[in-house]
Amino acid sequence: MPFSFDLTGKNAVVTGANTGLGQAIAVALAQAGASIVGVGRSSMDETERLCREAGAGFHAVQADLSNLEPIERIVTEAVSAGGRIDILVNNAGIIRRADAIDFTEQDWDDVMNVNLKSTFFLSQAVAKTMLADEGGGKIINIASLLSFQGGIRIPSYTASKSGLAGLTRLLACEWAAKGINVNAIAPGYFVTNNTEALRADPKRRGEILARIPAGRWGDPGDLGGAAVFLASPAARYIHGIVLPVDGGWLAR
Ligand code: NAD
Repeated sequence: MPFSFDLTGKNAVVTGANTGLGQAIAVALAQAGASIVGVGRSSMDETERLCREAGAGFHAVQADLSNLEPIERIVTEAVSAGGRIDILVNNAGIIRRADAIDFTEQDWDDVMNVNLKSTFFLSQAVAKTMLADEGGGKIINIASLLSFQGGIRIPSYTASKSGLAGLTRLLACEWAAKGINVNAIAPGYFVTNNTEALRADPKRRGEILARIPAGRWGDPGDLGGAAVFLASPAARYIHGIVLPVDGGWLAR
Protein backbone atom coordinates (compact mmCIF):
# COMPACT_ATOMS: atom_id res chain seq x y z
CA MET A 1 0.00 0.00 0.00
CA PRO A 2 1.54 3.36 -0.99
CA PHE A 3 0.16 5.27 1.98
CA SER A 4 -1.76 4.68 5.19
CA PHE A 5 -3.80 6.57 7.74
CA ASP A 6 -3.51 3.69 10.20
CA LEU A 7 -1.99 4.54 13.59
CA THR A 8 -2.12 1.03 15.06
CA GLY A 9 0.73 0.49 17.51
CA LYS A 10 1.58 4.20 17.74
CA ASN A 11 1.82 6.03 21.06
CA ALA A 12 0.43 9.58 20.97
CA VAL A 13 0.88 12.28 23.61
CA VAL A 14 -1.88 14.91 23.56
CA THR A 15 -1.65 17.93 25.87
CA GLY A 16 -4.86 19.51 27.18
CA ALA A 17 -6.69 16.26 26.43
CA ASN A 18 -9.41 16.70 29.07
CA THR A 19 -11.74 18.85 27.00
CA GLY A 20 -12.47 20.67 23.73
CA LEU A 21 -10.17 20.23 20.76
CA GLY A 22 -7.58 18.19 22.70
CA GLN A 23 -10.21 15.65 23.69
CA ALA A 24 -11.52 15.41 20.11
CA ILE A 25 -7.98 14.94 18.76
CA ALA A 26 -7.19 12.26 21.34
CA VAL A 27 -10.36 10.36 20.44
CA ALA A 28 -9.69 10.64 16.69
CA LEU A 29 -6.13 9.34 17.10
CA ALA A 30 -7.50 6.52 19.28
CA GLN A 31 -10.08 5.64 16.61
CA ALA A 32 -7.23 5.47 14.08
CA GLY A 33 -5.46 2.92 16.30
CA ALA A 34 -3.09 4.90 18.53
CA SER A 35 -2.65 4.54 22.29
CA ILE A 36 -3.11 7.86 24.03
CA VAL A 37 -1.15 9.58 26.77
CA GLY A 38 -3.35 12.47 27.88
CA VAL A 39 -1.60 15.36 29.60
CA GLY A 40 -3.60 17.88 31.57
CA ARG A 41 -4.27 19.77 34.77
CA SER A 42 -7.64 18.25 35.53
CA SER A 43 -9.47 14.94 35.33
CA MET A 44 -9.29 13.22 31.96
CA ASP A 45 -11.83 10.52 32.91
CA GLU A 46 -14.21 11.38 30.06
CA THR A 47 -11.43 11.36 27.47
CA GLU A 48 -10.14 8.07 28.87
CA ARG A 49 -13.62 6.53 28.58
CA LEU A 50 -14.02 7.72 24.98
CA CYS A 51 -10.56 6.45 23.98
CA ARG A 52 -11.14 3.08 25.64
CA GLU A 53 -14.51 2.81 23.88
CA ALA A 54 -12.53 3.20 20.65
CA GLY A 55 -10.43 0.23 21.74
CA ALA A 56 -7.33 2.28 22.61
CA GLY A 57 -5.05 2.28 25.62
CA PHE A 58 -5.04 5.45 27.71
CA HIS A 59 -2.60 6.80 30.28
CA ALA A 60 -3.18 10.09 32.10
CA VAL A 61 -0.35 12.40 33.18
CA GLN A 62 -1.32 15.21 35.54
CA ALA A 63 0.78 18.23 34.66
CA ASP A 64 0.59 22.01 34.70
CA LEU A 65 2.25 23.34 31.56
CA SER A 66 2.43 26.93 32.81
CA ASN A 67 6.03 26.08 33.71
CA LEU A 68 8.70 23.65 32.55
CA GLU A 69 8.87 21.59 35.74
CA PRO A 70 6.69 18.64 34.54
CA ILE A 71 8.29 18.21 31.13
CA GLU A 72 10.83 15.49 31.92
CA ARG A 73 8.18 13.60 33.92
CA ILE A 74 5.69 13.76 31.03
CA VAL A 75 8.27 12.26 28.67
CA THR A 76 9.36 9.57 31.14
CA GLU A 77 5.78 8.52 31.90
CA ALA A 78 4.76 8.55 28.23
CA VAL A 79 7.73 6.40 27.22
CA SER A 80 7.10 3.92 30.02
CA ALA A 81 3.38 3.76 29.11
CA GLY A 82 3.89 3.19 25.39
CA GLY A 83 7.48 2.11 24.79
CA ARG A 84 8.28 5.24 22.79
CA ILE A 85 6.56 8.46 21.76
CA ASP A 86 5.54 8.38 18.10
CA ILE A 87 3.20 11.40 18.03
CA LEU A 88 3.09 14.61 20.07
CA VAL A 89 0.13 16.99 19.80
CA ASN A 90 0.83 20.33 21.48
CA ASN A 91 -2.76 21.40 22.07
CA ALA A 92 -2.82 22.95 25.57
CA GLY A 93 -3.36 26.66 25.29
CA ILE A 94 -4.95 29.64 26.99
CA ILE A 95 -6.27 33.03 25.92
CA ARG A 96 -6.65 36.37 27.75
CA ARG A 97 -8.81 39.18 26.44
CA ALA A 98 -8.24 42.90 27.00
CA ASP A 99 -7.59 45.96 24.87
CA ALA A 100 -3.91 46.22 23.91
CA ILE A 101 -3.70 49.58 25.67
CA ASP A 102 -4.63 47.98 29.02
CA PHE A 103 -2.97 44.56 28.61
CA THR A 104 -0.99 43.41 31.66
CA GLU A 105 2.41 41.75 31.92
CA GLN A 106 0.74 38.87 33.77
CA ASP A 107 -1.64 38.21 30.85
CA TRP A 108 1.29 38.41 28.46
CA ASP A 109 3.52 35.99 30.41
CA ASP A 110 0.79 33.48 31.32
CA VAL A 111 -0.24 33.00 27.69
CA MET A 112 3.28 32.92 26.28
CA ASN A 113 4.39 30.38 28.90
CA VAL A 114 1.70 27.81 28.07
CA ASN A 115 1.18 28.44 24.35
CA LEU A 116 4.78 28.92 23.25
CA LYS A 117 7.47 28.25 25.87
CA SER A 118 6.16 24.93 27.19
CA THR A 119 5.27 23.85 23.66
CA PHE A 120 8.86 24.41 22.53
CA PHE A 121 10.50 22.68 25.49
CA LEU A 122 8.12 19.72 25.44
CA SER A 123 8.78 19.34 21.71
CA GLN A 124 12.52 19.49 22.38
CA ALA A 125 12.31 16.83 25.12
CA VAL A 126 10.13 14.53 23.01
CA ALA A 127 12.29 15.02 19.90
CA LYS A 128 15.36 13.93 21.88
CA THR A 129 13.70 10.55 22.44
CA MET A 130 12.56 10.32 18.79
CA LEU A 131 16.10 11.10 17.60
CA ALA A 132 17.78 8.80 20.15
CA ASP A 133 16.24 5.62 18.72
CA GLU A 134 16.10 7.01 15.16
CA GLY A 135 12.45 5.99 14.96
CA GLY A 136 11.30 9.46 13.94
CA GLY A 137 7.87 10.80 14.76
CA LYS A 138 5.20 13.40 14.23
CA ILE A 139 4.76 16.67 16.10
CA ILE A 140 1.54 18.59 15.56
CA ASN A 141 1.11 22.06 17.04
CA ILE A 142 -2.34 23.54 17.47
CA ALA A 143 -2.00 27.02 16.05
CA SER A 144 -4.87 29.38 15.21
CA LEU A 145 -6.25 31.78 12.63
CA LEU A 146 -4.28 34.25 14.75
CA SER A 147 -1.18 32.61 13.28
CA PHE A 148 -2.21 34.42 10.06
CA GLN A 149 -4.32 37.35 11.23
CA GLY A 150 -4.11 40.05 13.89
CA GLY A 151 -7.42 39.82 15.69
CA ILE A 152 -8.37 42.28 18.43
CA ARG A 153 -8.06 42.31 22.26
CA ILE A 154 -5.82 39.22 22.44
CA PRO A 155 -2.25 40.55 22.02
CA SER A 156 -0.41 37.73 23.79
CA TYR A 157 -2.55 35.07 22.11
CA THR A 158 -1.86 36.47 18.64
CA ALA A 159 1.85 36.79 19.46
CA SER A 160 1.98 33.22 20.78
CA LYS A 161 0.11 31.65 17.85
CA SER A 162 2.04 33.66 15.25
CA GLY A 163 5.21 32.57 17.05
CA LEU A 164 4.01 28.99 17.01
CA ALA A 165 3.67 29.09 13.21
CA GLY A 166 7.28 30.26 12.98
CA LEU A 167 8.44 27.67 15.47
CA THR A 168 6.67 24.96 13.49
CA ARG A 169 8.63 25.97 10.39
CA LEU A 170 11.95 26.19 12.25
CA LEU A 171 11.56 22.76 13.86
CA ALA A 172 10.52 21.28 10.52
CA CYS A 173 13.66 22.66 8.91
CA GLU A 174 15.90 21.24 11.66
CA TRP A 175 14.24 17.84 12.04
CA ALA A 176 12.71 16.93 8.66
CA ALA A 177 15.81 15.08 7.48
CA LYS A 178 15.95 13.25 10.82
CA GLY A 179 12.55 11.61 10.37
CA ILE A 180 10.38 13.96 12.40
CA ASN A 181 7.47 15.70 10.67
CA VAL A 182 6.61 18.96 12.43
CA ASN A 183 3.38 20.60 11.29
CA ALA A 184 0.53 22.66 12.71
CA ILE A 185 -3.24 22.81 12.46
CA ALA A 186 -4.95 26.20 12.57
CA PRO A 187 -8.51 25.70 13.82
CA GLY A 188 -11.06 28.31 12.88
CA TYR A 189 -13.85 29.21 15.31
CA PHE A 190 -14.83 26.11 17.29
CA VAL A 191 -17.37 25.62 20.05
CA THR A 192 -15.13 25.15 23.12
CA ASN A 193 -14.28 26.96 26.39
CA ASN A 194 -11.74 29.01 24.43
CA THR A 195 -14.49 30.81 22.48
CA GLU A 196 -17.08 31.03 25.28
CA ALA A 197 -16.74 34.82 25.66
CA LEU A 198 -17.09 35.37 21.89
CA ARG A 199 -20.16 33.16 21.65
CA ALA A 200 -21.75 34.92 24.65
CA ASP A 201 -21.50 38.30 22.85
CA PRO A 202 -24.37 38.37 20.32
CA LYS A 203 -22.65 41.00 18.12
CA ARG A 204 -19.31 39.17 17.88
CA ARG A 205 -21.02 35.81 17.55
CA GLY A 206 -23.08 37.05 14.59
CA GLU A 207 -20.14 38.81 12.91
CA ILE A 208 -18.01 35.68 13.12
CA LEU A 209 -20.72 33.36 11.86
CA ALA A 210 -21.47 35.67 8.92
CA ARG A 211 -17.85 35.33 7.72
CA ILE A 212 -17.62 31.52 7.86
CA PRO A 213 -18.35 30.15 4.36
CA ALA A 214 -19.41 26.79 5.84
CA GLY A 215 -22.20 28.66 7.66
CA ARG A 216 -21.53 27.23 11.11
CA TRP A 217 -19.01 27.23 13.95
CA GLY A 218 -16.68 24.25 14.05
CA ASP A 219 -17.49 21.19 16.12
CA PRO A 220 -14.38 19.75 17.85
CA GLY A 221 -14.89 16.50 15.92
CA ASP A 222 -14.27 18.45 12.69
CA LEU A 223 -10.58 18.58 13.62
CA GLY A 224 -9.99 14.84 13.97
CA GLY A 225 -9.37 14.04 10.31
CA ALA A 226 -6.62 16.64 9.95
CA ALA A 227 -4.91 15.41 13.12
CA VAL A 228 -5.01 11.77 12.02
CA PHE A 229 -3.72 12.72 8.57
CA LEU A 230 -0.74 14.70 9.88
CA ALA A 231 0.03 11.96 12.42
CA SER A 232 -0.09 9.21 9.81
CA PRO A 233 2.38 7.70 7.33
CA ALA A 234 0.32 9.40 4.57
CA ALA A 235 1.82 12.75 5.64
CA ARG A 236 5.42 11.50 5.49
CA TYR A 237 6.60 14.23 3.04
CA ILE A 238 4.69 17.10 4.68
CA HIS A 239 6.88 19.40 6.80
CA GLY A 240 6.34 22.83 8.29
CA ILE A 241 2.80 23.54 7.14
CA VAL A 242 0.07 25.30 9.08
CA LEU A 243 -3.12 23.61 7.90
CA PRO A 244 -6.29 25.68 8.37
CA VAL A 245 -9.41 23.77 9.41
CA ASP A 246 -11.70 26.76 9.43
CA GLY A 247 -14.87 26.23 7.40
CA GLY A 248 -13.34 28.43 4.71
CA TRP A 249 -12.69 31.51 6.92
CA LEU A 250 -9.29 32.30 5.40
CA ALA A 251 -10.61 31.84 1.87
CA ARG A 252 -13.01 34.74 2.37
P1 NAD B 1 -10.17 24.72 25.99
O1 NAD B 1 -9.99 25.90 26.87
O2 NAD B 1 -11.39 23.90 26.12
O3 NAD B 1 -8.92 23.76 26.08
C1 NAD B 1 -7.63 24.18 26.46
C2 NAD B 1 -6.88 23.00 27.00
O4 NAD B 1 -5.57 23.42 27.41
C3 NAD B 1 -7.58 22.39 28.21
O5 NAD B 1 -7.46 21.01 28.15
C4 NAD B 1 -6.75 22.95 29.36
O6 NAD B 1 -6.80 22.13 30.50
C5 NAD B 1 -5.37 22.94 28.72
N1 NAD B 1 -4.47 23.81 29.45
C6 NAD B 1 -4.54 25.16 29.56
N2 NAD B 1 -3.57 25.60 30.39
C7 NAD B 1 -2.87 24.50 30.77
C8 NAD B 1 -1.77 24.31 31.64
N3 NAD B 1 -1.19 25.31 32.30
N4 NAD B 1 -1.32 23.05 31.82
C9 NAD B 1 -1.91 22.01 31.20
N5 NAD B 1 -2.96 22.12 30.38
C10 NAD B 1 -3.43 23.37 30.19
O7 NAD B 1 -10.10 25.31 24.53
P2 NAD B 1 -9.84 24.61 23.12
O8 NAD B 1 -10.53 25.45 22.15
O9 NAD B 1 -10.10 23.17 23.16
O10 NAD B 1 -8.27 24.90 22.95
C11 NAD B 1 -7.35 23.92 22.55
C12 NAD B 1 -6.29 24.57 21.68
O11 NAD B 1 -6.90 25.00 20.46
C13 NAD B 1 -5.65 25.81 22.30
O12 NAD B 1 -4.27 25.82 22.00
C14 NAD B 1 -6.35 26.93 21.58
O13 NAD B 1 -5.58 28.10 21.53
C15 NAD B 1 -6.54 26.33 20.22
N6 NAD B 1 -7.55 26.96 19.37
C16 NAD B 1 -8.87 26.91 19.69
C17 NAD B 1 -9.79 27.50 18.82
C18 NAD B 1 -11.28 27.48 19.07
O14 NAD B 1 -12.04 28.05 18.28
N7 NAD B 1 -11.77 26.84 20.09
C19 NAD B 1 -9.35 28.15 17.68
C20 NAD B 1 -8.00 28.18 17.39
C21 NAD B 1 -7.11 27.56 18.24
